[in-house]
Amino acid sequence: MKCQRLASLLLVTVVLGYLAIPCPAAEKATRPNVIYIMSDDHASHAISCYGSKINKTPNLDRLADEGMLFRNAFCTNSICGPCRAVVLTGKYSHLNGFVRNGNTFDGSQQTVAKLLQGAGYQTAMVGKWHLKSEPTGFDYWHILIGQGPYYNPPMKTPEGTVKHTGYTTDIITDAALDFLKNSRDKDKPFFLMYHHKAPHRNWQPGPKYLNLYDDVTIPEPDNLFDDYSGRGTPAGHQEMTVAKHLNANDLKLVPNRSLNDEQAAVWNKAYGPKNKAFEEANLEGDDLIRWKYQRYIKDYLRCIASVDENVGRLLDYLDESGLAKNTIVIYTSDQGFYLGDHGWFDKRFMYEESLRSPLMVRWPGHVKPGSVSEELVLNLDFAETFLDAADKEIPADMQGESLVPVLEGNTPDDWRKAVYYRYYEYPAVHMVHKHYGVRTARHKLIFFHEIDEWELFDLQKDPREMKSVYADPAYAGVVAELKTELQRLRKQYKDDDTVRGQPAKRPVRSGARSKKQ
Ligand code: CA
Repeated sequence: MKCQRLASLLLVTVVLGYLAIPCPAAEKATRPNVIYIMSDDHASHAISCYGSKINKTPNLDRLADEGMLFRNAFCTNSICGPCRAVVLTGKYSHLNGFVRNGNTFDGSQQTVAKLLQGAGYQTAMVGKWHLKSEPTGFDYWHILIGQGPYYNPPMKTPEGTVKHTGYTTDIITDAALDFLKNSRDKDKPFFLMYHHKAPHRNWQPGPKYLNLYDDVTIPEPDNLFDDYSGRGTPAGHQEMTVAKHLNANDLKLVPNRSLNDEQAAVWNKAYGPKNKAFEEANLEGDDLIRWKYQRYIKDYLRCIASVDENVGRLLDYLDESGLAKNTIVIYTSDQGFYLGDHGWFDKRFMYEESLRSPLMVRWPGHVKPGSVSEELVLNLDFAETFLDAADKEIPADMQGESLVPVLEGNTPDDWRKAVYYRYYEYPAVHMVHKHYGVRTARHKLIFFHEIDEWELFDLQKDPREMKSVYADPAYAGVVAELKTELQRLRKQYKDDDTVRGQPAKRPVRSGARSKKQ
């Protein structure tokens, strides 16, 4: 299809050239705009087109109804900053140099924004950036500072810091719409990254949704009370349980100091009666854990209600303005999240709920409405996809694959059959051990290399990953095969345990003394 598009472009160019009309006019009509919408920590099991049992997201569902939904979209390193660096560079963390939150992104390196800018696109970045250094390669930017607050965010622009009053999810959308309506160069195609902070911890809902779900009980995941038997050390060692690690701010049991007086009055009216009832109930044990889960998940879903509403505002504008027909719209999250699954909140682990991201892509005339893909795709593929859609050459040092053929229903026979993952942050908040691993359509092999522990999951028999079968003799063949595949992927992606811009560290252990799980 890409060849056909190129041939069509060539034909149009030749004909228009014959008619003495300059080439750029033909390019302008052909190349699509791109809007990349990314939320933060939005798990796919909290989106109704993915079959959510806990909420409805009618506006996000529009993108699946009118485009393609990916059932197996994964990240390469399940943590906020690193995911963003992967999306911008099309390279794994060890090659783009941003392996953990707190790193500073080297903005002098090649990024998809710079390449699209060079190809004649107007580039814009709005919302959560979280890479410490200032954006490069963007004609327009309006970003949160660091994580940014849920209310009244100061935001950075090339002209300086701008103060805002209101709810951040609404304000980020206002900024995106302002770019589209008032700052867009109508003679160029555009590339807009529209990034929400929500529904990141600590899940502060907007004023409109503070009482949503007050009268319902959200279903609990079947493994909310996971005891971590059946897996190795890391699952039990982490510090991200609903039971013990949500603090008073997370649970809204202390005043919210980021609000102005008017906002605080609305907030206190919503939480005051709920907190009073909680105090009077004097809960303990499993009842207290269940209450914490309800408080956490309801606030998380309330934040998502605002994201859904605001994506709807953007989609409505695309329809009204006529931009929708030549604009690719992508919705994803930087990674997934545990919604009480395994008794957790947060991400980091290579287990399914945080490895997986939602991904829906609408591209009129190219993507069949209501289509579903089961292919293994990565956030590593976005940069390549944008460049391919813009008919711009993909640099040889980018490591992902363009999704354009998949989107157009022509998945190559040699599409990837396994994905490589690596997490770097330990010791650090939430105390998830460093690990790397490989996931295929059916199995997942994880190596916690600094403590020499392996885990293997049969995702067909054990989709919730409750029991590692690494030591089960019946899986010896699978283990051997996946260890070979893991080494092949490490070589393919040039992961030799060094990180770009950082000194080499001691080599990781071989795994020769591996424990049995
Ligand atoms: Ca995140």
